[in-house]
Amino acid sequence: MAHVQEVLNHRVGPAQPLVQTVVLPSPFTNGLSPVLRHLNPEVLDRHRDGIASGDKTLCFGLSEPDAGSDVFGMKTRAVRDGDEWVLTGTKQWITNSPYADYAMVFALTDPEAAARHKGGVTGFFVDTRTPGFTVPRVINTMGHLGGDTGVVVLDGVRVRDEYRLGEVGRGLAVAMDGVNAGRMGMAASCLGLARWALDQAVEYAKVRKTFGVPIADHQAIQLMLADSAMDVYAAKAMIQNCAWRLDSGQASTAQVSMVKAFSTEMLGRVMDCSIQIHGGMGLTNELRLEEGYRFARVMRIPDGTGEIQRRTIARQLLAGHADL
Ligand SMILES: Cc1cc2nc3c(=O)[nH]c(=O)nc-3n(C[C@H](O)[C@H](O)[C@H](O)COP(=O)(O)OP(=O)(O)OC[C@H]3O[C@@H](n4cnc5c(N)ncnc54)[C@H](O)[C@@H]3O)c2cc1C
Repeated sequence: MAHVQEVLNHRVGPAQPLVQTVVLPSPFTNGLSPVLRHLNPEVLDRHRDGIASGDKTLCFGLSEPDAGSDVFGMKTRAVRDGDEWVLTGTKQWITNSPYADYAMVFALTDPEAAARHKGGVTGFFVDTRTPGFTVPRVINTMGHLGGDTGVVVLDGVRVRDEYRLGEVGRGLAVAMDGVNAGRMGMAASCLGLARWALDQAVEYAKVRKTFGVPIADHQAIQLMLADSAMDVYAAKAMIQNCAWRLDSGQASTAQVSMVKAFSTEMLGRVMDCSIQIHGGMGLTNELRLEEGYRFARVMRIPDGTGEIQRRTIARQLLAGHADL
C-alpha cells in the first residue's frame, strides 16, 4: 500500500490544477448564451463567431445595489430617444464585467408596470466600449481569487433599438433564459467538483493509517464516504433528469430550482466531509480542498440564493405546477 506521503506528492504541485473555480462555460460570460437567441438575427450574425470562438466575452447585468433577489427593485432606466435607447443606472456583482466585450443589460422601460410586477423591464445588448459604460470598481468575493465581479455604471449609454434583447417589457423572461442555463451549469460544476473531492477522500482514507489500520477501516470514516456518495449520486440523477426535461421542452421551473439548491448545498456537504477525512491536511490548501470549500460556499448565493430557490419550488408546488 502506498505511503500517505506518496499520495500527497503525487497530487500536490503546480503542474496539477485540481480545482476549477471558474464556472466555464457560463451563459453569463462565455459562449453563445441562450439570452442571445432574443437578439435581432442580423445583429447576432455580426457577433456570433467572435462570441462562439471565445475571442469575445460577455457579462450579464441584472443585479443592482437594491435589486438582487428582488429584481423589481431595479432602478436602471432605459428611455427611448428616436431610434436609440438611453441607459442610466448602476449594476452590481456583474461577473466578468471588467473584461467583457459585450454586456446583456436589463433596464426599466415602464416603471409603473414593473411596480405592479407586470413586466416593464427590457434587455439590451451593449458594446462595453460605448461611451458612458464604465466599471469603476471590482468587488472581491470569497472564493473568487483575483475578483472578476464588478460594479457597472451606465451614464447615458446609447444603444440602437436593433440591439434590444427581445420584446419591450419582456426582459425578465429573456433574462430567465440565461439564469436557468446558469443554474444548470452551476449544478453540473458542483457535481464534478463533489465527485473529485469524494475521490480524494477515498484515496486518502485507504492510505492514511491511525491505530494501526487505514482510516477507511473506521466506521466513522465509512459513514462520511457513504453519505457523500449518496449526495453525489442524488445530484447526478437530478441534473440528468432535469436536463432531459429541458431538452424535451417540459416546463421545469421548480426542477431547475431544486437542482440548483440541492447541488450547490450538496457540494458544501461533500467538501466538508472530504476535508474532515483529510484531517489537518484538509485545512491546508495543498490539496486545493480549502479552495473548493470556499467555492462551494459561494455557489449558494449567485443565480438565486437557496431561499429564493425554495420560494420558487414552494410556489410551483402550491400552484400545482411541480411535476415530481
Ligand atoms: C460571486 C457573485 C457573482 C454574481 N454574478 C452576477 C452576474 O454576473 N450578474 C448579475 O446580474 N448578478 C450577479 N450576482 C448577484 C446575485 O445574483 C445576487 O447576489 C443574488 O441574487 C442575491 O441578491 P443580494 O446579494 O442582493 O441578496 P438579497 O436579495 O439582499 O438577499 C439577502 C438575504 O435575504 C434572503 N431573501 C431575500 N428575499 C427573500 C425571500 N423572499 N424569502 C426568503 N429569504 C429571502 C436571501 O436568500 C439572502 O439570504 C452575483 C453575485 C455573486 C456573489
